[in-house]
Amino acid sequence: MTLPRGRLSTFRDCSDSMKTDLRSAGVLVVDLDALARNYRRMQAAASAAECAAVVKANAYGLGMARVANRLRQEGCRRFFVATATEGRELRQVLPDAAIYVFEGVAEGEQATLLDAELTPVLNSLQQIECWSRAGGARAILHIDTGMSRLGLSEREVVELERAPRRLAGLSIEYVMTHYACADTPEHRLNREQLSRFDDLRKKLPAARTSIGNSAGIFLGASYCGDLARAGIGLYGGNPFSERPSPVEQVVQLQAKIVQLRDVEEECTVGYGATHDTHASSRLAICGVGYADGYPRSVGNRVSASFKGIRVPVVGRVSMDLTCLDVSNVPAAEIAVGDYADLIGGAVGIDEVAAAAGTISYEILTGLGGRLERRYLG
Ligand SMILES: *Cc1c(COP(=O)(O)O)cnc(C)c1O
Repeated sequence: MTLPRGRLSTFRDCSDSMKTDLRSAGVLVVDLDALARNYRRMQAAASAAECAAVVKANAYGLGMARVANRLRQEGCRRFFVATATEGRELRQVLPDAAIYVFEGVAEGEQATLLDAELTPVLNSLQQIECWSRAGGARAILHIDTGMSRLGLSEREVVELERAPRRLAGLSIEYVMTHYACADTPEHRLNREQLSRFDDLRKKLPAARTSIGNSAGIFLGASYCGDLARAGIGLYGGNPFSERPSPVEQVVQLQAKIVQLRDVEEECTVGYGATHDTHASSRLAICGVGYADGYPRSVGNRVSASFKGIRVPVVGRVSMDLTCLDVSNVPAAEIAVGDYADLIGGAVGIDEVAAAAGTISYEILTGLGGRLERRYLG
């Protein structure tokens, strides 16, 4: 089909101007300065221990490259990822940092680790054997002390004590373990894990230790070992379940208001008609929903924030839309095209997570690919 020339150029003008105005319905704002301040806080809390950064799962959904680059500038020299694939990606960004892979090494992955100079966390006798055979040298040894997830069991540690040759050729940078209950400082398992770890690591060649996660870091140096592994605290999630947060917010989930509705008569809102709205209230319909990772389960259970004013989420969250009752916002202050904060402003990430019956980790890592990520700082 050929269009008259005039028409065509009108089209093009129109789409160009739309492109420059086009702002995504959902924007995830990541404050890299706040991230850097959280890193400095955590490095200070870890005192003599060195503070490494855990950037697995795309840096908890915030964007691994941008996050890792900024932390490297802040002086962080050691990074942890979950898989060899993540490690290879991170190596492109950080040519000179130490990169450790929590899942260790599996058959078929040796070359990837060696080529990208990744250091595996060895979690079993099979992994130790696999890495030795591949000619890998540097490694972390992981001892399980209460998670029953990854890591050498007591039996395997004893086996290594009996046959130290299994470790010949390896250079053990750290021996590590991982807390099950550090978010609950008074839990007896924290102390028990530390003492189990001390007993078991004596059976292995002497090496520096890596113990504390974010919560461990804020419990003090004795919970950290020589190398602490900071994750959620960097990204603004409270590492504790019942204590005030020691870190500041890093992310803001902004949702564009696509329609304002002045309700004249009482009516119900959304799927399932789970909310009744009073006459003379005002609703703001925002273009972010559960397909973006804003959980469906928070409908009628949480507030959002508009210019710092708390506004309740009413009705069920749908796939692409969320409805806010903005009756308490002065009418002149709000318009279609404005953004409300579903996370951020007056409503922090932990409040949203609690309303969804989950933890900040799951909310952050679930924030979807449709969101535009914008970085401050
Ligand atoms: C994810 C992870 C961490 C980071 O934990 P946070 O609670 O996010 O600080 C540390 N160590 C291991 C083994 C992990 O899997």
